[in-house]
Amino acid sequence: MAFKQINCPSCGASLQLEFRFSEMVVCNYCSQTSHLVGDAWQAKGENVKLPDYGSIFFVGATGKLKGESFKVLGRVRYQYPDGFWDEWLLQFDTTPDTEFWLQEDEGDYTLFVKADALPENSEFNHLEVGKKYPWGNKELFISEKNTANIAGSEGELTHQVVPGQQANFADGIIFGEGVQTSLEYLPGKTEFYIAKYTLQLAEFEISNAPDENVYA
Ligand SMILES: [Zn+2]
Repeated sequence: MAFKQINCPSCGASLQLEFRFSEMVVCNYCSQTSHLVGDAWQAKGENVKLPDYGSIFFVGATGKLKGESFKVLGRVRYQYPDGFWDEWLLQFDTTPDTEFWLQEDEGDYTLFVKADALPENSEFNHLEVGKKYPWGNKELFISEKNTANIAGSEGELTHQVVPGQQANFADGIIFGEGVQTSLEYLPGKTEFYIAKYTLQLAEFEISNAPDENVYA
């Protein structure tokens, strides 16, 4: 069930938003990116059509994971000098207001869920690899810092990104628990994600086919 219906500010087409916290949408019809600014959707320019490398996922896919139904709402592709990875915004039917991201990176699949709070002192410039930072009653151990670029995006997203933009990351581990984490530094905000599962592709069931008219 759609959360909200809007009209694309560029072509006027009716777009359905499914996620309460989406702040960006790429129009299926004219491929313009729009950002939510205050209460209004504003056109921000054309997005890039992302080459398809044979992922089973696509915007609009519905399926099941561990018995739970989900829908794929959006995708961001990040590129770095040696390659790229995709992050898919997933909405599960039982928790429609919870932000999940499936990271697909060269055959590795990790499902992250957004954390309510950031670790302490976690500004990108101050964060040091190999150090620990308090997060509630736990500690975050930083294992890697990286910078990537936004290659492009599709569907609806909780981030406001444009192709070519720089994005900083800090990967880590919940100390003593071995749980992966990811800090993402995006324009105007920082988000902290905790790995819920690392997954095999065979654990996903996709129940529909891509609409061939989309992006035609
Ligand atoms: Zn449009």
